[in-house]
Amino acid sequence: MTHLLAVFFATAALFLFGPTPAITAGMDIDYPKTVVQGGIYPITVSGKRIVSVTGTFARGRVHLIPTGAPGVFSGLIGVHIVAAAGERPLVIVATGPDGTTESSIVSITVQEGEFPTESLSVDEKFVVYDETTEERIRKEGREMKRVIHRETPSRLWSEPFVCPCAGPITGRFGLTRYFNGTRSFPHTGIDISANTGETVTAANDGTVALIQDSYMGGLTLLIDHGQGLYTAYCHLSCALVKEGDIVGRGESVARVGATGRVTGAHLHFGVFLNHHIVNPDDLLNRRFR
Ligand SMILES: [Zn+2]
Repeated sequence: MTHLLAVFFATAALFLFGPTPAITAGMDIDYPKTVVQGGIYPITVSGKRIVSVTGTFARGRVHLIPTGAPGVFSGLIGVHIVAAAGERPLVIVATGPDGTTESSIVSITVQEGEFPTESLSVDEKFVVYDETTEERIRKEGREMKRVIHRETPSRLWSEPFVCPCAGPITGRFGLTRYFNGTRSFPHTGIDISANTGETVTAANDGTVALIQDSYMGGLTLLIDHGQGLYTAYCHLSCALVKEGDIVGRGESVARVGATGRVTGAHLHFGVFLNHHIVNPDDLLNRRFR
């Protein structure tokens, strides 16, 4: 009976007010049909009557901003370094001038990345941890997670990202290392060879979100670039800024060091997008705007 009444009132409402106009009729989504683990990809949504757009992909929020062209919005999606291969929905929700919304779901295929492997010998204390060290690593991981899950609503950058340190890349993203024969989590960033004391600069405009002395990453600095995009700088000898500081693209923020789990001085540079570990090469080389 309740169901019949609901149908009656819905039908009556339709006669009285007419159907909700398809405010985003012709909504166009330009997205990658296939993506690989660790990749960063641009997406574009366009439609004449759209005033704002949001979305979700792989449990992360997709932030889209106006491009300047009427009804055109763009944003980035990130695929986690160990995302399971298979189909994932990209959900886009567009809002029209009268506040009504329309959603669209498309499917994206995640493929495994082709990452190399490498064997290294390190001090046993960096492979087998005592209980106190394990608890320390877990605690530092939780703190890092808490920070990168904080999504500043606005985008704090506008120019392309720049490499934070001069020097050759000696460790690629995704490289799977065997430490003393034990398989570790794939390499979460790129290693840039440099000497202790060399300058580390901000990859783009943002806010210093965290400075942490961690067991694995050594002295680590995180910069929030807004909308869930963070860059990480590890194994530092010292930081030249403090938490909460606003920094500019190319500004000196720290010095290279050899702190944490390292075999020598270098800068480990990592990127998080909507709390997924993603490939810094994509951010540096593809000149997203
Ligand atoms: Zn590294």
